[in-house]
Amino acid sequence: MFELRDLYQQVIVDHNKSPRNFGKLEPFNHEADGYNPLCGDKLHIYLQVSDEGLIEGVSFEGEGCAISVASASLMTDAIKGTPVADFEQRFEAFQHMVTSDLAEEPDLDTLGKLAVLSGVREFPSRIKCASLCWHTLKSAVEDSHHVAKTE
Ligand code: ZN
Repeated sequence: MFELRDLYQQVIVDHNKSPRNFGKLEPFNHEADGYNPLCGDKLHIYLQVSDEGLIEGVSFEGEGCAISVASASLMTDAIKGTPVADFEQRFEAFQHMVTSDLAEEPDLDTLGKLAVLSGVREFPSRIKCASLCWHTLKSAVEDSHHVAKTE
């Protein structure tokens, strides 16, 4: 069993310092805004889904705390190149992970590297920072032009 707690810290620092997939995506065919009023995190997500239903590109812009930026960076990395049809399952797995009991092992098969964010369970006030990008991406996938809120 690797030390999730140390890894959590390292990954947050690394992805916050140099976020992956940061900036506007060209071209894109879906987009959405997200806002977490509890912390003030703001995200804009760009998404390019192919005719075959593959997520060809995804990127984000915005400002927020280290956890919101690291989570968006990890998420965009993890879903790039995957079928958009698989998103819902991952979204649910992620939500379950960050709200589950501390003793519960994350679903590594579905979540892979995203499992490091299970560390956020120790800081309940930051769970919404970690899940903001997922709510925003869900709204981009559904192409609703509403602002996704964590509240
Ligand atoms: Zn935050």
